[in-house]
Amino acid sequence: MALILIVEDNEMNADMLSRRLQRAGYQVLLGTDGQAGVELTRQHRPDLVLMDMSLPVMDGWTATRVIKADASIAHIPVMALTAHAVKGEREKALGAGCDDYDTKPVEWARLSSKIALLLSRNAVAGGAAASGGSSQGGR
Ligand SMILES: [Mg+2]
Repeated sequence: MALILIVEDNEMNADMLSRRLQRAGYQVLLGTDGQAGVELTRQHRPDLVLMDMSLPVMDGWTATRVIKADASIAHIPVMALTAHAVKGEREKALGAGCDDYDTKPVEWARLSSKIALLLSRNAVAGGAAASGGSSQGGR
């Protein structure tokens, strides 16, 4: 069962996302600021991070850069979630190292298909790179 880390400081958004992901069969972890998001990613090695960009302590762009600069967790896909459906936001998120991008309010059908795509892409890449590594899929 894939583990998804939600990094979101808005309690209502986090709660809604968390319930939807759990209903879809994912395990969910929650961090409420960017620093916590980085630490939880290091500790738990989630299969995917859903990263809000406007976060206290450390914003989502910085947190993504920190994750992508750490070789032990850089392979974990990060999907940016931003409320600003402004032109340039997507480029800014991808520039920080995010693997994909979606806007809030979340359109669940679209987001869940993007999540499934990122997870399958990484499973394939992980499988190819896993020669030599023991199976650590477990949980
Ligand atoms: Mg926020």
